[in-house]
Amino acid sequence: MQKNLGFQLNLLNLNGCLGITMVNRQEINDIRDILKRAKIKVTLPRIMIFQILKNSPQGMTAYDIENASLMINNRINLSTIYSTLKLFQNTGLIQRYKINLEQAMYSLTHIDGPIRICCKHCGSMDTINDPHLQQTIQIFCQQHQLYMTSYSLILNVDFCSHCQQKCA
Ligand SMILES: [Zn+2]
Repeated sequence: MQKNLGFQLNLLNLNGCLGITMVNRQEINDIRDILKRAKIKVTLPRIMIFQILKNSPQGMTAYDIENASLMINNRINLSTIYSTLKLFQNTGLIQRYKINLEQAMYSLTHIDGPIRICCKHCGSMDTINDPHLQQTIQIFCQQHQLYMTSYSLILNVDFCSHCQQKCA
């Protein structure tokens, strides 16, 4: 599962420097401020879920978040995860999207680029950052007087660039 590998490596790196534990005061304080600004009551599971999403290079399902909480020996139950994700989503902190009929994925709105390429062949999901395309979407909304809180764009492809290289 290439999808999860990046995150696991990331977690290992973080564990190496105690980054994801409560030792990282600065990050915890930042997250606390973000939650407060969004008028969300600060609780430990909420800080942890935000931190897990923040440190993931890709979108995560609720199960991914549960697994990540297990890996850092601080299990959060799924119902807490789902209610927290809903709260985050309602306040615009995160975005939710679906690929085909699979589980819903979640990612932070301001960190993860909203444009993704989903490969049918290997199942990978790459985030791309294209300021020009993002600007075009924003201009489109302004022209149509649409107040956009978030969006997601998924390009479904038969072969991603990695698969194309392998096949070549
Ligand atoms: Zn692929």
